[in-house]
Amino acid sequence: PKNAARTVWEALESGAALQPGAPAIGGERPLDYRSLLTTTRMLAAALQRAGIEPGDRVALLHRNAPLFLVWTFACAGVGAVLVPLNYRLSAAEIRDVLEDSRTRMLVAEDCFRELAESAGSGVDLQFVGLSANDPPFGLPLETDALHGFVAHASEEDDVAHLYYTSGTTGKPKGVPLTQRNVVQHALAAITELDLANDDLWGHVAPMFHLADAWATIAITLAGGCHVFLPDFDGRAALALFEESGVTVSNLVPTMLQRMLAAAPAAGFDGGSLRLVLSGGAPISPAAVAAVLDTFHCEYVQTYGLTETSPYLTLGILEPRHREESEERQLARRSRTGRPFETVELDVIDEGGRSVPRDDRTVGEIVARGSTITPGYWNRPAETKAAFRGGWFHTGDLATIDAEGWVNIVDRKKDMILTGGENVYSIEVENALYSHPAVLECAAYGAPSTEWGEEVRAAVVLRDGIERTEGLEAELREHCAERLARYKLPRAFVFMRELPKTGSGKIAKRLLR
Ligand code: ATP
Repeated sequence: PKNAARTVWEALESGAALQPGAPAIGGERPLDYRSLLTTTRMLAAALQRAGIEPGDRVALLHRNAPLFLVWTFACAGVGAVLVPLNYRLSAAEIRDVLEDSRTRMLVAEDCFRELAESAGSGVDLQFVGLSANDPPFGLPLETDALHGFVAHASEEDDVAHLYYTSGTTGKPKGVPLTQRNVVQHALAAITELDLANDDLWGHVAPMFHLADAWATIAITLAGGCHVFLPDFDGRAALALFEESGVTVSNLVPTMLQRMLAAAPAAGFDGGSLRLVLSGGAPISPAAVAAVLDTFHCEYVQTYGLTETSPYLTLGILEPRHREESEERQLARRSRTGRPFETVELDVIDEGGRSVPRDDRTVGEIVARGSTITPGYWNRPAETKAAFRGGWFHTGDLATIDAEGWVNIVDRKKDMILTGGENVYSIEVENALYSHPAVLECAAYGAPSTEWGEEVRAAVVLRDGIERTEGLEAELREHCAERLARYKLPRAFVFMRELPKTGSGKIAKRLLR
């Protein structure tokens, strides 16, 4: 209630008004809220002087760092649309995004200068390269300019951010999120997850992806503190958690796996963590159990998409669930959860009818609510296809139970169709993850003349475990004890590492 913010800029102002002297940014160069607001206003004023107008797109190619936060809010201050770029894309892919979004200004961290220059060459835009120190934000900052600076008054329907999906199929699609989408999400996340001014968020997953980026707004709005990890590494993430006293963070499961694997050697037992969130991809019950055992804190699974700002469901246990057996609680925590505060959700069959809430019948998740994108950027056909009957169609397959908890079984496009039977890859992966030798795995369909598709499993073994025929037979046996015959992997492919997308998700397209 004390937060009446309606826009991203107001989120910063109200966070700063709450407690100007409190730390906004931790780490080596800490900044309190008063200084964060001043710095951001100086940068916003510089953007205005550089000719950036409300609605203009400003693209940002930057690793996790305080500057990411400052640029996010400075864009909000002038009503510019922030376009966060995935720096693992090629120059050609980035050029597609710059052209599709008709970006006016491209801002790049020093280490991405070459990538940015090559992506931006021939595109009509202003290029700002950020040198690490001097001048601090790539644009000349003038303290004097502050006196004349008035933040742009955005409307709730104005676009705040333009994200690009990683483009598993075809060219990347732009997903505009409005001021309303972003701020309603932040407000709801604050209530649902009890985020407060004593929280310290670890930005570990890449900030160009919404799994982490929503917290840029929410933690600021709550008056909490941010710390940043520029390059992911399991041990470095644990060190950040330990040294800065991180209380909450949202990891993607592949990152969590790496952190869990590094924890014993690092002697990390959770430190100040009170809540670990995972999302962006499925997580196995075995990994959830390991999070609880290793980090000794609360764990909540989150599910969502770029199009939905991102949360659609949260796996928060109710007091009555905490009276259930530990086994049942673990099973529940491993599910995707119940609808996020801003969202109405259903699971439907191919005819568009709600499936029975029996926790068994599989359908597609659809949703509507104040945190869902108004539609794709300049793509009326895709928008029409995704929003049928007023509901956004996620492309995710799930079951729903009597309490309204959904449980994802697969993405529509990853489901394996073998000999006329549907195999949902998460079930196969969970069986494999329950074997102690498996660090990471992915089940996918490979073309088969006999079956249409056959189930295969790509497996990364834990450090120090040898790949032997005996082990392969053991994995086969392990799966056979847990899965019906037609779901069993016909082949195991052992890899050192699985191919990942920029946000750290397993890229099944490449496996196939
Ligand atoms: P692209 O659309 O570009 O291929 P993407 O589908 O990974 O990329 P995102 O918006 O990053 O796009 O991710 C959303 C998808 O991630 C969801 O549709 C869902 O399939 C998956 N996902 C997110 N959270 C979970 C979760 N907790 N469990 C299972 N899957 C999840």
